[in-house]
Amino acid sequence: MATRTPLIAGNWKLNLDHLEAVHQVQKLDFTLKDAKHDYSAVEVAVLAPFTDLRSIQTVVDADKMGVKYGAQDVSQHVSGAYTGEISPVFLAKLGVTFVAVGHSERRQYHGETDEIVAAKTKAALDHDLTPIVCVGEGLDIRKAGEHVAYTLAQVDGALAGLSAEEAAKIVIAYEPVWAIGTGEVATPADAQEVIGAIRGRLAELYDQSVADVVRVLYGGSVKSSSIVELMAEKDIDGGLVGGASLDPEEFARIASFY
Ligand code: PEP
Repeated sequence: MATRTPLIAGNWKLNLDHLEAVHQVQKLDFTLKDAKHDYSAVEVAVLAPFTDLRSIQTVVDADKMGVKYGAQDVSQHVSGAYTGEISPVFLAKLGVTFVAVGHSERRQYHGETDEIVAAKTKAALDHDLTPIVCVGEGLDIRKAGEHVAYTLAQVDGALAGLSAEEAAKIVIAYEPVWAIGTGEVATPADAQEVIGAIRGRLAELYDQSVADVVRVLYGGSVKSSSIVELMAEKDIDGGLVGGASLDPEEFARIASFY
């Protein structure tokens, strides 16, 4: 079976301007190096506002940091009359590795449908960016016991039209909406239930070799106090970390969970 390198990705959301971003990645890199972080054992990434990316690229390149960086969204279009959008081509030119697609806040506040999420996922892959496809149910769906079916339907929607080769390159983040920014972490068993089902769906849609290589993260109020137990679950390959990623020392502790 393939071994999957864990990924700890910090979603800064709408925080940190380009000057603060430079300070943040320097402090993160320093703290990780101090903790003798092994970048070959665990990948670390920050997903920053678009306006930070050029500054982050400069400092990461200059200081030869192992930290990777990404964006929080991408246009499904490459160019044209799409005011305010950011092309995957522009992101690729800035050395971006990851891009979050279909975060629940994009779905909620920007009306992103499964079709849009699928188009953005494809656009990212077409330009050698790794999409982190975000899925997860709201509280009413969880209470109704429909969380697995709901989340798998989002996975089906996001992956519609992708070949097995393309699907093998994506990352999926299971983020129950009721756990995002609320301080309420899903139990490791709750997260494993859905993430195991996502891996099962990948095997059904493609084959076991795809299911074995795709990294599936958990996101929702992850902290250094919860990451170890989450990572002990067999299908959880890392964390998508919001609030706690704004504190470089806490984020470095999360990334050094192993
Ligand atoms: C997120 O923004 O994807 C997230 C999981 O946020 P938080 O860790 O703050 O819940």
